[in-house]
Amino acid sequence: MVMRKKKVRIAIDGPVAAGKSSVAEKVAERLGLLYVDTGAMYRAVALAAKDKGLSWEDEAEMGKLAEQVDIKLESPKGKKRDGRKVTVYLDGKDVSRRIREAEMGEGASVVSQYLGVRKVLVRQQQGISKGREVVMEGRDIGTWVLPEAEVKIYMDATPATRVERKQKQLRDFGEKFSAADVRKDVMTRDTREMTRKVDPLRPAPGAWMLDTTDLSIDEVVEKIAERVESERQKS
Ligand code: C5P
Repeated sequence: MVMRKKKVRIAIDGPVAAGKSSVAEKVAERLGLLYVDTGAMYRAVALAAKDKGLSWEDEAEMGKLAEQVDIKLESPKGKKRDGRKVTVYLDGKDVSRRIREAEMGEGASVVSQYLGVRKVLVRQQQGISKGREVVMEGRDIGTWVLPEAEVKIYMDATPATRVERKQKQLRDFGEKFSAADVRKDVMTRDTREMTRKVDPLRPAPGAWMLDTTDLSIDEVVEKIAERVESERQKS
């Protein structure tokens, strides 16, 4: 008799540059799950606002905008396999690179505070993951988007490590910032995301607290893969 393996959804939350996306993408590839980068969706709303000349501070406009825009995430295919983790379309245009600019990190952090924006994107994220095996990462996945996920992880690292990783990420992208500037940005976003009224960042009940400070990406992937395999054996 062929034993059917249990379906597994992985929810990963944590602050800026804790290692979530690098790990999530590799876990997805290794275990054959769909990778969903929810931060990319908030970044796309921030970019749409910028292109339309709208202020990120305008809560009512940002809620309307989130309803209007069409955001699609896709696994990179063909020529688009250029090192990116996900291809992001905004109203049919490939904005995968533009949303990674540091400015869009700040914009996403501002617009993601609003209930109107979150309601729309959370609904879409729940739609994407329905009936599928996913690894979804963000700030409210275990607490709000997929509270029933079989594996919930809160990934963190020391602030100094996260600042270093963020600075490297931006440098690899071609944007040079001083460590002091990156530190300020990381701290501002952390505070905003942990203290906002709607869906603040916090570990989901029962989440596995995973400190990645002294671990390589591959070591973290290995740990998660082991946990997922044991979860899949459960009936
Ligand atoms: O992870 P990333 O830096 O791409 O996310 C951009 C911003 O989007 C975060 O700083 C956070 O404010 C917001 N976000 C969120 N909820 C999510 C994912 C991202 O509020 N699920």
